[in-house]
Amino acid sequence: MTESGTLVPYDEAISRYEPVIGLETHVELGTTTKMFCGSPAAFGADPNASVCPVCLGLPGSLPVINRTAIEYTIKIGLALNCSIASWCRFARKNYFYPDMPKNFQISQYDEPLCTDGWLDVTVGDSQVRIGIERVHLEEDTGKSLHVGGATGRIHGADYSLVDYNRAGIPLVEVVTKPVPGTGALAPVVARAYVTELRDLLRALGVSDVRMEEGSLRCDVNTSLARRGSATWGTRTETKNVNSLRSVERAVRFEIERQAGVLDAGGRVVQETRHFQEESGTTTPGRSKEEAQDYRYFPEPDLVPLAPSREWVEELRASLPELPVARRARLQKEWGLSDLDMTAMRNAGALDLVAETVAAGAGPAEARNWWLGELSRRANESGVELAALPVTPAQVARVVALVASGELNDRLARQVLDGVLAGEGSPDDVVAARGLAVVSDDAALLAAVDQAIAAHADVADKVRSGKTAAAGALVGAVMRETGGRADAARAHELILQRLAPS
Ligand SMILES: [Zn+2]
Repeated sequence: MTESGTLVPYDEAISRYEPVIGLETHVELGTTTKMFCGSPAAFGADPNASVCPVCLGLPGSLPVINRTAIEYTIKIGLALNCSIASWCRFARKNYFYPDMPKNFQISQYDEPLCTDGWLDVTVGDSQVRIGIERVHLEEDTGKSLHVGGATGRIHGADYSLVDYNRAGIPLVEVVTKPVPGTGALAPVVARAYVTELRDLLRALGVSDVRMEEGSLRCDVNTSLARRGSATWGTRTETKNVNSLRSVERAVRFEIERQAGVLDAGGRVVQETRHFQEESGTTTPGRSKEEAQDYRYFPEPDLVPLAPSREWVEELRASLPELPVARRARLQKEWGLSDLDMTAMRNAGALDLVAETVAAGAGPAEARNWWLGELSRRANESGVELAALPVTPAQVARVVALVASGELNDRLARQVLDGVLAGEGSPDDVVAARGLAVVSDDAALLAAVDQAIAAHADVADKVRSGKTAAAGALVGAVMRETGGRADAARAHELILQRLAPS
């Protein structure tokens, strides 16, 4: 095994080597039952509560294909511009592992349901077309929990537990063709692809695509070729990368590491690697140099799968508006530039703004709140925008309160403080914190008179016709009322009070 070499700084690595990336994405489908049995497929049940003789592989049990899973997979294939097989079969992939109760996995091998498509992703102002090799369907495995060791791995553990709830959940694998020619952008392209794929799957409604819960997980392949060389390098496969940011970091790290190995005259080992979230590095896993023999053969307990042309066309007609079309439509409706739109996507604000607009806010106001104040709060607390404890409907309510004059911008920010602190709805916070704008003349006049008394020099200027000086008095009124005064009304009252007699 060749693990020699030190990391090469990224720019230097890219100046000498051309990366080729590839992505294999596993998607747990959001069907109500499992792939080949009627056990519930929901996340979060007690261990081994969602199982039956079929997904436990008990003798004599027989699988039956879940029609909805096939439907979802065809939809994914169509949305990815793939050809849909008119006839294909499931295969048995034979291997022994404790979290696989049957000792084989039903998968698709040389006859995938969907092949040869593409997905366009936007990086900066350029578009990269990612070729899709195949989309196939299989069943997920169970989950092992190793107890007692320091690392959570099997080595050093006192004992292991197995949860078969996930065994048999329909799992789609989307495999890209190798993507060469992205140069220094390779890590960003990898991330943009997974982001676009996630948005697409979410729009199709086929999965909840939660990377943190493992319903979307990604294996990232990276290889390096010396610049000018026609031969691609040996690739490594970094397994189960579970956030968008990690996808980018994993590719970047592998480029720096492999460049170091090659610079030192070493050889990149073909292997699976694990991404380490804390350090941003990858560590070696299983070597793939000796290919495993899974002894694939057509699954004898299942009939071949032959979706009719009519069914496929019916599914094509039922596809929802896809993210790329939706973005183009929203951009036009909202009158935004490409740059604005990119900023909104990068901030993860597109859906939030769309929902806020749907809840009644104007697009400009919705965008300002999410990209301004709320993005700042999200950064401060180090969370994704969507993870802030405020809903689009609540933001729309704040926008409405500002539009009606009940809040000014400053008060609106305080209302959001309250909502984010868990004090309830915007109206609750306004009531509890007494944040409504004071536009009642009686209350305002007291503050106006106090401001005039405290700034007699300014008041004299206004009296003598220099009405622009009234601004300073409005400022004093605002301070007096803790920022709650209706500034426009206060201005009117000041001018009335100081009108030349
Ligand atoms: Zn079952």
